[in-house]
Amino acid sequence: MPDLIKLLPDSVANQIAAGEVIQRPASAVKELLENAVDAGSTQVRLIVKDAGKTLIQVIDNGTGMSETDARMCFERHATSKIREASDLFSIRTLGFRGEALASIAAIAQVELKSRKTSEDIGTCIIIEGSKVKSQEPVACAQGTSFVIKNLFYNVPARRNFLKSDQVEFRHILEEFQRVALVNPDIEFILLNNDKPVFQLSKGNLKLRIVQIFGNQMNEKLIPVELNTEMVSIHGYIGKPESARKTRGEQYFFANNRYIRHPYLHHAVEQAFDELLPDSSIPTYFIYIQVDPDTIDINIHPTKTEVNFQHGQLLYASMRTAVKHSLGMFSISPTIDFDTEPTFDYVAPKGYEPKQPQIQVNPDYNPFKSTQSYLKPNPAITPNKQGWEKLYDGLLPEDKQIEQIAHPNDIQTNRLFAESVSQKNDEKEETENIGTGKLLQVQNRYIVANLKSGMLVVDISKAHQRIVFEKMLNDVSSNAITKQKVLFPQIINLSPVDSSILQELNQDLSDLGFEISDLGNGSFAVIALPFSMNYANTESFIECLLEDYKKAKVDTTTEKNMKLIRIIAGNLTMKPGKILKTEEMQSIIDELFACTIPDLAPDGSKIMKIIPISEIERLIR
Ligand code: ADP
Ligand code: MG
Repeated sequence: MPDLIKLLPDSVANQIAAGEVIQRPASAVKELLENAVDAGSTQVRLIVKDAGKTLIQVIDNGTGMSETDARMCFERHATSKIREASDLFSIRTLGFRGEALASIAAIAQVELKSRKTSEDIGTCIIIEGSKVKSQEPVACAQGTSFVIKNLFYNVPARRNFLKSDQVEFRHILEEFQRVALVNPDIEFILLNNDKPVFQLSKGNLKLRIVQIFGNQMNEKLIPVELNTEMVSIHGYIGKPESARKTRGEQYFFANNRYIRHPYLHHAVEQAFDELLPDSSIPTYFIYIQVDPDTIDINIHPTKTEVNFQHGQLLYASMRTAVKHSLGMFSISPTIDFDTEPTFDYVAPKGYEPKQPQIQVNPDYNPFKSTQSYLKPNPAITPNKQGWEKLYDGLLPEDKQIEQIAHPNDIQTNRLFAESVSQKNDEKEETENIGTGKLLQVQNRYIVANLKSGMLVVDISKAHQRIVFEKMLNDVSSNAITKQKVLFPQIINLSPVDSSILQELNQDLSDLGFEISDLGNGSFAVIALPFSMNYANTESFIECLLEDYKKAKVDTTTEKNMKLIRIIAGNLTMKPGKILKTEEMQSIIDELFACTIPDLAPDGSKIMKIIPISEIERLIR
């Protein structure tokens, strides 16, 4: 019997390794940028086309490579950065596996041009699918240029798996920003489809942050600094009022490498404590330096997770550093209440200031809209087919029958009220909630008395369901109306969030938004879907983008549905508002007029009936 075990050819081994190191164009960008930084460059240019799918080029002015090095660098485990195994633990440069270029060359068409300072002539290598096609001398600038064409050209499965250009470009932007944020002394340029996206001149860290995230960052940053024997921490935190609901601007770097670290993130949050508005996340750019021997960055070749040997001490140091900065800059209310700037107002001559008069209608009830959420508009014949489509995949199997019904179909509502009730005979009861007294508990729940026990309704979730169905209803009947705002609100977004908003703009417009792209991450919100109560448009848009990032959306219908769900989730009443009886009644009425009154759009329960037997059991 012949032997079965064979050594894989290098090209196959490299392709397999590539699967781990290079998952998408952004991974190649990361490796090339890190190599350029390691080569001591002072200027690095990144050029991408079609989100890196057709072209990624990185040009640096670093040390360059000799003819032999240029050839060697594509070999697996070829690195100038490790000599022996123990080096792995004290590595100070970024790349350290000698795997990246071999992987890239296995799955793309690569052209490398490089010249060392000491040489007059450079070398050019063309390599495709790990095979060297040519190597010859070439006249070129000092430094190195890598051109990566048609990434994954020979791994169609991978190529097909890539997301839209917008998504892939967003990943590239993230990697670019992470590298640029640790090297403010290097000039970085990014061109996308021949258009300049960033031109980051050399400067200090604060300038770099402002160059990347916009001028509005300038007044928001407070320096952080702490040096102990074990760790040195420096960087910037955002003033509490600049905290955002989105995860956007949170950056930790350990020994000049971007890392993710939920534990340290918690330390920062703890330091901010009650200074932060509800559920906002602080902005920070924090650089940690520890002895390389005490950090394990090798957990995964591409992941950004690291282990610190003195994790707990580091946690305490981080908290202290951030708290100290907040205190130093008189942000903490315990230190100084008078930090708000005072305005000097000079009245024109002869002007008598008057107290502004505000007219309030004490009888106004925001829930008693003239057009009730779910009352059908007789002028509109609902397009049932479109309506049904929107429900595709939303309902669990056993509820598929009901999805055909129109939300205004009273019969259906009964059916649902029934499905909520634990017993059939409770049906009448839920219909008669209106007659009993309603009670608000903990400002969060409405409790109603039933014959067989009590009904508890989560107010915020009920409101989500009501808004959700109203929007769905409007979309399916083409009844979405826009409402122009009096003063367009300008919002400023990071490049990543901008690209998401650009991607969503058409869909949002179909839902009644009008958002105009002013360029450079600024957007003007001109119109919003009517009947929605927007307390803060900027934070609403931020939350919307954040939720959208988290949601995985594949099809167009799904996208529409998800957007509506996200909008409903973010627009609705937050818990804590004290309601009048009529308001509670109105919520209950509108909720039970919904198609699915028992489930919030995210699938969670809105209400629960607690049977009297259960209450008796609890109190016994
Ligand atoms: P690693 O960075 O882990 O050493 P890579 O595969 O990324 O592995 O690179 C292999 C080697 O190629 C590096 O160790 C370095 O010597 C050389 N190299 C790669 N990119 C550059 C560059 N831009 N300038 C100079 N040398 C480079
Ligand atoms: Mg490398």
